[in-house]
Amino acid sequence: MLEGLMQDDFQLTVAHMLRRMRSLYPHAEVVTLTPAGTVRASFGAIAERVDRLARVLGSLGLGPGDRVGTFAWNNQRHLELYMAVPCAGAVLHTLNIRLTGAQLAYIIDHAEDQAIFVDASLVALLEPLVDRLQAPRQYVVMGDDDETAAAIERLPGALSYEALLEAAGPGPFEYPHLDERQAAALCYTSGTTGNPKGVLYSHRSISLHSSATLMRDGLGMCHTDRALVVVPMFHANAWGMPHGAALAGADLILPDRFLQAEPLAKLIEAERPTIMGCVPTIFADLLRYADSNPVDLSSLTNAACGGSAVPRQLMQDFQERHDVRVFQAWGMTETSPVATYARPVAGPGGKDQAYWNARAKQGRPLPWVELRLMDDAGEVAWDGSSTGEIQVRGPWVAAQYFKEPADDEKFDSGWLRTGDIAAVDQEGSVQITDRSKDVIKSGGEWISSVELENEVMAHPDVVEAAVIAKPDERWAERPLCCVVVREGALDAHSPDALAADIVEHLRGRVAKWWLPDEIAFIAEVPKTSVGKFDKKQLRARLQQGELDGRVMLGRPGEAGAAAPAAKAEESSPSQAG
Ligand code: ADP
Repeated sequence: MLEGLMQDDFQLTVAHMLRRMRSLYPHAEVVTLTPAGTVRASFGAIAERVDRLARVLGSLGLGPGDRVGTFAWNNQRHLELYMAVPCAGAVLHTLNIRLTGAQLAYIIDHAEDQAIFVDASLVALLEPLVDRLQAPRQYVVMGDDDETAAAIERLPGALSYEALLEAAGPGPFEYPHLDERQAAALCYTSGTTGNPKGVLYSHRSISLHSSATLMRDGLGMCHTDRALVVVPMFHANAWGMPHGAALAGADLILPDRFLQAEPLAKLIEAERPTIMGCVPTIFADLLRYADSNPVDLSSLTNAACGGSAVPRQLMQDFQERHDVRVFQAWGMTETSPVATYARPVAGPGGKDQAYWNARAKQGRPLPWVELRLMDDAGEVAWDGSSTGEIQVRGPWVAAQYFKEPADDEKFDSGWLRTGDIAAVDQEGSVQITDRSKDVIKSGGEWISSVELENEVMAHPDVVEAAVIAKPDERWAERPLCCVVVREGALDAHSPDALAADIVEHLRGRVAKWWLPDEIAFIAEVPKTSVGKFDKKQLRARLQQGELDGRVMLGRPGEAGAAAPAAKAEESSPSQAG
């Protein structure tokens, strides 16, 4: 082999991001929302605090490879930890504050976190866990008000973050040499099936993934952007936005605990972010708020949405009513997390259904991510309609879980089995139809719960819709549509009339045999710790007889009913979509 003669030993590390913050973009700013209003700090000032924090880590005995937990909202101090911990050679372990106590205790013990940095406002959540942990931990409480002083008292041996930084004194810190392959961060999956599993990111994987957030066909973050990070920093690196902002010198706007529509809308109006990242449920709340309050969201030229399928109607309404472009991204904790990104197709846009259908796809794999579709018979063709499980590989895709055997069934000779079912068109654009555990098989054919939900959510009275399989003697499974409607909708119509109207609305939009036989009106779709529809809970409620469906059609096979047997005359789901 004739070797290239380039600086291939240059290490791709978080330390490079810190150097850029300090030397290239000292004036970029981080804005954090607090109960007392917004707090601002420049990248330059933050880099100086990061040096202090790195010294503090050393004084607490936290060195290379040690896991340092964070239990925090999206705020400036969390960003400081994002930088200082990996740059000091330790591993930033972001704990998902919304997990159950049992899951958190399991994760903290499994990761062997030596210290946990906790926001004062979250100490009450962490406190009950302390006695359940297998070993004592060093707690550091973050905050600078009276609440903080009281919170410190609640955790054994806890120290004050601000007091430690003050004592650490000013001046440069001698950072250790880092190998790009060493671990930088750790995040556990939400554990919807079995125990949560740890994904151990390397400096290299974070660096490459963050570079992709700067690509124009990805999030496309650049120096002139102001990025509002609503997606939690405690889950999957907040989609790479904090690291990307450090690389590009984009401003960061961090909402801390203020995630309701009203404070978010006000923050957008006041701070004029250009980019934002958040899950569909929060976007939907924001849309409802913006529809009924005079608020200007138009600074957002690039609102990235993902974590679960983004309803097409949500994108369309945002663009048409508020001049906000919502783009869809797909990925998972194991993929750092962004693997595909859906930039709009060329053309005028916004006019016809074909445009919006294309926009509702999850997009193409980012550069360096490779993707294949598999079923039991092998590789599935990219024809836009055949479906299979998505498998991915690439430099920011997990190869193994932390402290788990290498032969875990999630990994198949160099490929990650995502558990997501999709069709891919000839241009490589992915359309997720379901998670494998959520698929509905009716009369031997698949019904895409994601696509059905998308269509139900396009009904003007529907706020949220989650479709689950209901066991059925004849067809094995039929779709049960759990619907949350707008306030007042059930006063204006009887439940039967509204259910009939929803089914009428679906007619022609989906294959006849997909039409739900039953619609259950519910007050709220239960959500997981990261804001996704929790279908496991809905299925449990169904099993316990708690979901009262309105029977809308005759049972399949009866007169007037749309039976799965009729499916042959229908176009396949993805062709219809
Ligand atoms: P967990 O797997 O523990 O729920 P993750 O945040 O890692 O937590 O979730 C990843 C999953 O979220 C993906 O496997 C996929 O099912 C779903 N998901 C993420 N983005 C999208 C999207 N744009 N459309 C549909 N599903 C999505």
